[in-house]
Formats: sequence, structure tokens, C-alpha cells
Amino acid sequence: MSAQEFEKSLQGIVGSQNVRPDVPLSEHTTFCIGGPAQWLVVPHSEDEVAAVVETCEAADVPWRVLGLGSNVLAPDEGLDGVTLLLADNFAAVEVLPDGLVRAAAGATNAKVAAAARDAGLAGYEFASGIPGTIGGAAIMNAGAYEGQFSDVAVEVRCLMPDGTLADIPASEAAWGYRASRMMREGLIVLAATLLLRPDSHEAITERMDDLRQRREEKQPLEMPSAGSTFKRPEGHFAGKLIQDAGLQGASVGGAQVSTKHAGFVVNTGGATASDVLALIALVQERVMEDAGVHLEPEVRLWQ
Ligand SMILES: Cc1cc2nc3c(=O)[nH]c(=O)nc-3n(C[C@H](O)[C@H](O)[C@H](O)COP(=O)(O)OP(=O)(O)OC[C@H]3O[C@@H](n4cnc5c(N)ncnc54)[C@H](O)[C@@H]3O)c2cc1C
Repeated sequence: MSAQEFEKSLQGIVGSQNVRPDVPLSEHTTFCIGGPAQWLVVPHSEDEVAAVVETCEAADVPWRVLGLGSNVLAPDEGLDGVTLLLADNFAAVEVLPDGLVRAAAGATNAKVAAAARDAGLAGYEFASGIPGTIGGAAIMNAGAYEGQFSDVAVEVRCLMPDGTLADIPASEAAWGYRASRMMREGLIVLAATLLLRPDSHEAITERMDDLRQRREEKQPLEMPSAGSTFKRPEGHFAGKLIQDAGLQGASVGGAQVSTKHAGFVVNTGGATASDVLALIALVQERVMEDAGVHLEPEVRLWQ
């Protein structure tokens, strides 16, 4: 199948306006880094997602999923194949009886937390400032301030490798620290159901405001980044190790170890993925020399 024929098949599934060729990934990642996606495909239903993946598999075209791009470093040369965007095109949030909230994969954590608060449901405040989607939170087991996605999730709806849809109960999601079965098996998260607990609007708002303030004080939110660059090594804090190694403010090209929070690499303007990768390697080397600890990237390094 030629590239043109393949593009036509995609258009037949999602509509021609939802197949966007050569879209810079820098426009879809919070790092503001990344060359063009060959096709950015914007599906609006589970059936469309399944059909796009089936078409890619049949044509042997690589595909991947992007939420809000807040934990991704996309390559400077761009990406061949299809990047499926599951963001505000896929973002319904529904408050159900008995403390349940169901959100489509592209709903932002902020939107879900606000819907829960407005319904008098507590437990998702921890995620209100994590700038990603429900799909990204489920894949990464996103967490902050003593909370993590696996604490509140009851079920995750996924597209399985055989093309079927499955509702995976939390007990089978194998969540770990920034890890999940869905990540390991390359499943697409389409939706998730959370179980929250009743509380007053006022108390929930107060907790969300407090967490927002703590983030604003500590994190370089005014600069493009992908959040914490490295996972927390057991028994340590990545930021402290980096600071102790004398690397706060160290830079390669436009990539810099944040002067506000050493756990973040920020884009000071015009940083490339190569700059970020070189800075990550430098930090890993120096922290190993200084403290004997290996820092593993938390940011997903796309190739
Ligand atoms: C300023 C800042 C602060 C942050 N703070 C935190 C924090 O406190 N805690 C924390 O855990 N993280 C934090 N992060 C990182 C990031 O926001 C989370 O990892 C978030 O869960 C990623 O969601 P996303 O929608 O942006 O995913 P993306 O970055 O788009 O994708 C991340 C990975 O998940 C995959 N993916 C995304 N959606 C799906 C889906 N529906 N199905 C299958 N795979 C999918 C992608 O392929 C990719 O591999 C922060 C980031 C920033 C920029």
C-alpha cells in the first residue's frame, strides 16, 4: 500500500480533517520539543481508535498514543507512522452513582478533579495539578503528594493487542511506581473508572488550592518541561542527588537543570531532544560518580 493509499484509509475512518500530516510534535508536548509526526490522527470514538490501529497493523505502519505530551521527549527528526492523539477529542467525564466517576482517556486530570469536586467527591485532588490526561495517568500510575492513580482506580477500559476491548479491573492492572501492565503490554487506555469518597466542596477546594500553591512554589511551572526527569531512586530524591552533584543550572544547548528544582530539566528556549538527552546522560554520569546511584528517566524517551 502506498503512503497515499494508507492516508486515504485513515481518512475513511476518522474523516480527512482528522488526519493531519507532518504536525510538529513540539506543538503537542509540554517540553515544546520534537520534529514532525508523519500523521497525527485524531479519533473521536473507541471504534475509530480500534480501526486506526487495525489499519496500521495490517499495513505494518508504526503507531503510538499521545495524551497531553507532558511526559514525553519526542525526537528532533520526528516520527514515522501514526501518532494517535487522545486529548480533548476524547474527554467525556461522567459522575455516576455511589462515588464512581468515569472519564474517557483524553480528559485532563484537572477536569476530572474539578468534576469530582463539583459532585462533592474527594480523592483525586492529588492529581489536579498533574498536567496530563486520564490515559497518561493510568499508564504511568501518576502520583503526587501521597496519592497515586492506583489508589482510586477501579477499572481501566483498554484496546487489547488482538483488537478486542476489555475492562481490566484494578486488581489486574499491575500498577507499580510509574509503571503498569498497560505500559508493559502496550495497551491503549480508552477510559477509566474511579471510586471517590464524599466530602464537602469547601474541603476539597481547600486541598486543591494548597497543592497548587505547593507546586507553584517548588516547580518551574513557568518553563517548558516534562515534570520530573528521573524516577525517585529507592532511599533518595533525584533532585537532591543532582543538587549535591553540583549540577543545578547545568546546561547543554537550550536544555537546563532547573535552577528552581533540580529534578526538572527545562527548555530555556530552542532546546532540542538531543540537548535533553545529552544533559540526561551528563546528570546520570555525575550522580553515579558522586553518589553511586543510577538515575532512571521517568520521561518517556520516544524514538
Ligand atoms: C510541570 C509538570 C509537572 C508534573 N508533575 C507530575 C506529578 O506530580 N506526578 C506525576 O506522576 N507526573 C507528573 N508529571 C508528568 C506527567 O504529567 C504525567 O506522567 C502524566 O500522567 C502524563 O500524561 P499525558 O496525558 O501528558 O501523557 P503523555 O505524556 O502524552 O504520554 C506519556 C506516556 O503514556 C502513553 N499514553 C498516553 N496516553 C495513553 C493512552 N490513552 N493509552 C496508552 N498509552 C498512553 C504515551 O504513549 C507515553 O508513553 C508532570 C509533568 C509536568 C510537565
